[in-house]
Amino acid sequence: MRALCWHGKGDVRVDNVPDPEIKHPRDVIIKITACAICGSDLHLLDGYQPTMEAGDILGHENIVEVLEVGS
Ligand SMILES: [Zn+2]
Repeated sequence: MRALCWHGKGDVRVDNVPDPEIKHPRDVIIKITACAICGSDLHLLDGYQPTMEAGDILGHENIVEVLEVGS
């Protein structure tokens, strides 16, 4: 799948990443149908989150379709 990934301060890219898998009973797999940019995303873009690692997937303000649920 394609995802918006963080690669460093001011550097985000749309990358090909592995498809998600259900790993835990409470996991869900979603398809994002619309999204917004949050102020938190701007902090990440500016490098204010020290736990970010290159390749981390961004985005948390989404409208989704649920494709699969865990047990
Ligand atoms: Zn937010």
